[in-house]
Amino acid sequence: DRDPLLKPDGDDLPDDRALRPQVLDEFIGQAEARANLKVFIESAKMRGEAMDHVLFHGPPGLGKTTLAQIMARELGVGFRMTSGPVLAKAGDLAAILTNLEARDVLFIDEIHRLSPVVEEVLYPAMEDFALDLVIGEGPAARTVRIDLQPFTLVGATTRLGLLTTPLRDRFGIPTRLQFYTEAELHQIVTRGARLLGAPATDDGAREIARRARGTPRIAGRLLRRVVDFAVVEGDGRVTRAIADGSLTRLGVDQIGLDGSDRRYLSLIAENYGGGPVGIETIAAALSESRDALEEVIEPFLLQQGLIARTPRGRTLAQKGWRHLGLEAPRRSDD
Ligand code: ADP
Repeated sequence: DRDPLLKPDGDDLPDDRALRPQVLDEFIGQAEARANLKVFIESAKMRGEAMDHVLFHGPPGLGKTTLAQIMARELGVGFRMTSGPVLAKAGDLAAILTNLEARDVLFIDEIHRLSPVVEEVLYPAMEDFALDLVIGEGPAARTVRIDLQPFTLVGATTRLGLLTTPLRDRFGIPTRLQFYTEAELHQIVTRGARLLGAPATDDGAREIARRARGTPRIAGRLLRRVVDFAVVEGDGRVTRAIADGSLTRLGVDQIGLDGSDRRYLSLIAENYGGGPVGIETIAAALSESRDALEEVIEPFLLQQGLIARTPRGRTLAQKGWRHLGLEAPRRSDD
């Protein structure tokens, strides 16, 4: 059997841990979420109670897992981590819940992918810190309620819309994470470069920040590749010239779009005259899953105003045409 408990950092590269902020004050960006969490953490500590359940939602790589780990550390409690698709049976979750210690943080990533039977276990656990077990079968079956230690559930999802209403309603602190500004990513890259032992110049860090798709995970990934080039082909410092040269070689363009982003935009422009075109059609044409498009590619293109979502499908915005270096066709209704 697979172990449904994931190790923190389990899916990260080893040196990723070095870049992960450990305390709230080291965490850059998400000012509003951070300020609120600070109050809720402080209050839970003063009252000696488990903090209320938190739901983080937003695109991948914006710091949901990192914030959950920081919360546990700041609360001074244990941290357990699992994910929706890993919890196959109700018993998997029940086992984790009964092993929690008082006020622990349980992090469930991709919580929109919990199966309905597992989700049922979660309701009384979140609401009453209790587990309803069914003993026996048929007419003799009865339910026994087991008390759990009070705990804090931290759920993370890239797709808020796929969460069932009863689950969503049980989170006292829903928190949306935003794409990072260039200035915030500049700070993150500067700090990361220092930690990796390859100091970045001001404009070197800015070049990476500008092309990181508003996402710390991407900033970290690009930074590591630029450091490789800096060490082998430069003097070990992350300069603007080294950053620009390496990112261009990696296929990351001036506004941070990669090959998949540009294929998406070109498809709408060249095959569908700028749209509208349905998401299923785009997914089939690009051989990508619809989920990957909706979770990873589209949020940034929408935020940048390169595309728009209409009831009839996706359309390329003026800015999208310009970015491709193409002229938007004149429409008959213009
Ligand atoms: P998510 O769970 O939202 O997909 P993670 O918390 O795993 O994102 O973060 C992805 C990576 O980005 C991690 O390696 C983490 O170190 C880094 N990261 C996220 N947020 C920040 C931040 N505010 N400052 C510095 N690094 C960050």
